[in-house]
Amino acid sequence: QKKDAASSEKVLRVGCNADFAPFEFQSEDSKEYTGFDMDLIRAVGKEMGYKVDIQNINFDGLIPSMEAGNIDVIISGMTINDERKNKVLFSKPYYQSGLTIVVKGDNDAIKEFKDLDGKKIAVQIGTTGATEAKTIPNAVVKEFNSSADTFMELKAGGVDAVVNDRPVNDYYLAKSGEKNVKRLSEVLTAEDYGIAMSKKNPELAKQIDEALDKLKANGEYDKIYETWFGK
Ligand code: GLN
Repeated sequence: QKKDAASSEKVLRVGCNADFAPFEFQSEDSKEYTGFDMDLIRAVGKEMGYKVDIQNINFDGLIPSMEAGNIDVIISGMTINDERKNKVLFSKPYYQSGLTIVVKGDNDAIKEFKDLDGKKIAVQIGTTGATEAKTIPNAVVKEFNSSADTFMELKAGGVDAVVNDRPVNDYYLAKSGEKNVKRLSEVLTAEDYGIAMSKKNPELAKQIDEALDKLKANGEYDKIYETWFGK
């Protein structure tokens, strides 16, 4: 963590991939980073007495960027899993997620995961959705930098389906006013999001967990949750 020269305030350098609404995205008018994760990490920073400095990085570049020492924490709808635990420390889980499938509105051939056999699927590079899609027999998996790009590819007819995180799919369908796509009800996985820190920084990981505990105890976490997901 660095000090801001002007204010001598401690700065927490946060990395995210800001194309993952409602967790992290840029507001259309102000270009400010906004979303559930952004509110949560700002509240965590405040609790710890840090100013939060947010950097927008490709999802598959987040862990390398932290390993290179350019950021202190990652909050980016990142699922806690064993592969990543080899490289980083995770906070306590802060959100329960899972993968779902989105298809074109008039597609009646794909009703569940097993119908994806032999189909073309769009996923975001470096995500659990990409890993899951690659287990489908005979599927052609096309990888994109952002979830927004996977939806574009579906609409353009380049793929039959998108495999992506449930809350992000739900938000896209609710907010985009998109009538030509639909989500399937099956949830493929159970995943927990965590905030990631460098293995060199166990002290920071402890502080983040303590801050999360406080925000859960004082109702702040619930307030942020309701802002983005309702009651
Ligand atoms: N939760 C998924 C993962 O961790 C996707 C995250 C994302 O695209 N921001 O792989």
